[in-house]
Amino acid sequence: MTLRPVPAWREKRYGNHMSFDQFGLPAALLRAVQEIGYTVPTPIQVAAIPAVHDGRDLLAAAQTGTGKTAAFALPLLQRLDEEQPHPRGPRAPRLLVLVPTRELAAQVGESFEDFGRHLRQRTLLIFGGVSPRPQIDALRQGVDIVVATPGRLLDHINERAIDVSAVRYLVLDEADRMLDMGFIRDIRRVLATLPPQRQNLLFSATFSDEIRTLAKGLLHDPLTVEVAPRNAPAELVEHRVHLVEQGDKRAVLSHLLREGATPQTLVFTRTKHGANRLAEQLERDGINCAAIHGNKSQSARTRALADFKDYKVQVLVATDIAARGLDISELPQVVNYELPHVPEDYVHRIGRTGRAGCTGQALSLVSSDERDRLRAIERVLGRKISVLPLDRSGIKFEREQPQHAQRPQHAPRPQQSYHPRQHRPSRPSGGQRRWSGGRG
Ligand code: AMP
Repeated sequence: MTLRPVPAWREKRYGNHMSFDQFGLPAALLRAVQEIGYTVPTPIQVAAIPAVHDGRDLLAAAQTGTGKTAAFALPLLQRLDEEQPHPRGPRAPRLLVLVPTRELAAQVGESFEDFGRHLRQRTLLIFGGVSPRPQIDALRQGVDIVVATPGRLLDHINERAIDVSAVRYLVLDEADRMLDMGFIRDIRRVLATLPPQRQNLLFSATFSDEIRTLAKGLLHDPLTVEVAPRNAPAELVEHRVHLVEQGDKRAVLSHLLREGATPQTLVFTRTKHGANRLAEQLERDGINCAAIHGNKSQSARTRALADFKDYKVQVLVATDIAARGLDISELPQVVNYELPHVPEDYVHRIGRTGRAGCTGQALSLVSSDERDRLRAIERVLGRKISVLPLDRSGIKFEREQPQHAQRPQHAPRPQQSYHPRQHRPSRPSGGQRRWSGGRG
């Protein structure tokens, strides 16, 4: 289980000459940072680490990929360690991190464990969709840091399985997404149970009125930090549109995936059902595929993500919510099988593409009833997206192919089907992250 440092090219883009030594982090944290392979702090880390260590509240406009996790995890681990360097025996959590999804909980939990590998702070993940029992047992044994989704945390609070009276540090990570997902009431209920003397940090990619209201009630004299998304959308990503009617999209996508033989493609659908159906159809077309969305069991989601990151599956079909916050960086290609309802989600989706040394591709299959959505996205991006003609030769459109003529499931896979090993690009040396989920 290792954090993967961003490649050097991205550090160059950050263009600062800071080093982690300058933050006055304790030796155990500095050592972990070095071992993980971070050398140059990202802008949000430069701004946030000293302020958070000084005890200031923070309001940060930052997306996944900016290094935001280390920006709060490092100084908060330092504070916990300074208060109580070698805690032993049962203890109540002092740091609470609220996140929108289980996947993000796993990633943030992993970061705390990685950065805190030479410290003695214990981290626990709390999220729904799995048995509460192990979480309750772990709470009994005592933990220092809880990374939780709001709903399950509230259950534990209501059941008195968790003692939140010692919480001194609170992080709301991806607050906008938590509100989008309807967690505001749960969040407010959780907040009402916490001791009022706290340091509060709020991270959000966007700032709606609702977020501002939440921030106003929560934060005291916060330091406000705003950092550009990892890949400014217009800069590193090549946007393309093919005009394809809904009924033809599957055949077109299947053809493009097989022709292009891209090692990893993240495909977005609007609905969970659509994600499942598409993944099944692509599998039938001989494309290695997995789906990830809220209706999948936790273990299925974890497995799908791990397989995708390890290049065992070529295509991950995801809904916006399931994909939000996932640290799948440097993807060569993102495909919008359907355009999102909310234009900003387009920016979140394509924020995952762009590779070292070359541009990423964001391909959208746009049907005639999605034209308005495309225009809304262009307004958000501040530029037109080129519509490219589609070479239709070789595409097996379904309406030309009667049901009985379709390739049965047991038929041999098509020649051009993807062979992960052959196309496998080199990986950064930091190793691949894996999360057993065993603690949740
Ligand atoms: P985050 O925005 O926290 O999700 O981080 C995105 C990715 O950047 C993760 O893979 C981190 O391991 C990596 N990362 C964060 N900070 C640094 C840094 N200072 N140097 C190199 N990689 C980093």
